[in-house]
Amino acid sequence: MSGGAPTVRAVVMDLDDTLYDCFTQCVGPAHREAAKAMVEAGARATVDEVLDARLSLVGVEHDLDDAVAACFRAVNPVRVAEAGRRAFDDRDPGPLAPFPFTAEVLRRVRATARLVLLSMGHPGTQEKKVKALGLEGAFDEVLFDDVFTRRGKEELMRAWLARSGLAANEVLVVGDRPDAEIAAATRLGMQALRIRGGEFGARPTPPGVPEAADLRAVLAYLGLPAIEAAAPASADARPAAPEAGQGS
Ligand SMILES: [Mg+2]
Repeated sequence: MSGGAPTVRAVVMDLDDTLYDCFTQCVGPAHREAAKAMVEAGARATVDEVLDARLSLVGVEHDLDDAVAACFRAVNPVRVAEAGRRAFDDRDPGPLAPFPFTAEVLRRVRATARLVLLSMGHPGTQEKKVKALGLEGAFDEVLFDDVFTRRGKEELMRAWLARSGLAANEVLVVGDRPDAEIAAATRLGMQALRIRGGEFGARPTPPGVPEAADLRAVLAYLGLPAIEAAAPASADARPAAPEAGQGS
C-alpha cells in the first residue's frame, strides 16, 4: 500500500478518535460539563442552551469557548469562556476503552518502527486518558501539546523530527483530523494515513492521503499481517474487565 514511499521508521499516532472512540466516550460528557461550568460562571442561559451553542459552533469557531461566551449575556464573558475551557479540557475522563484491536496494532507496529503518541489537550487529562485506556508503556515517546499554550501539532512534530535523526519521509502520521495532524504531516513532508471516524468523520480527506475506516489499516500500510476477525484475547482482556463499585 505504501507503494514507492520510503520505509517507515517511525509512526506517530494521534490519540482521540484514532486509538479509541473519544467522540462517544469523552466529547459529549465534556461539552455538558463545560456548559454547566459556563452557567455557574455567570452565562445567563440554561445548561441546555449553552450546550446547544457549543455543539453548533464546534469546529466552526477558532476559539469555541470565547464564541459561546459571546452568545450569552454575562457580567464577565472572559470568566465564562475560561470556565468552559477549563471544564472541557481539564477533566477526569473516567473509565475508557480502546478499540478492541488497538493494543495489538500498537504492539505490532512497535515491533517494526519507533512508536510515538501525539495528542493535543490538557497534558494532565491526556495522561489520565492514556492510563484509563491501559496504553501506558505502549509508546517509545509521548508528545503532548498543551491546549492552554497551543504550540500546535505541526510545531511539536517539527521539533520532534529535528531530534529524532529521521528524515521526514521516513515518518508515518496516523490520525483522524485532516486539519490537524494530517495537514501537519503533509506540510512537513511526512507520510500520512487518515482514520475516518468520530467527531471529525464528516470532513474530507485531503487529496493524495490514503484513508481507512479504522486503525487496523496501519498494518496493511506497513506490510504487516492483518489481525484476524477475532482479536487475540490479550488485546481485549484489560479494557473489558468490569470494575465493581466504580463511580457510585
Ligand atoms: Mg484525534
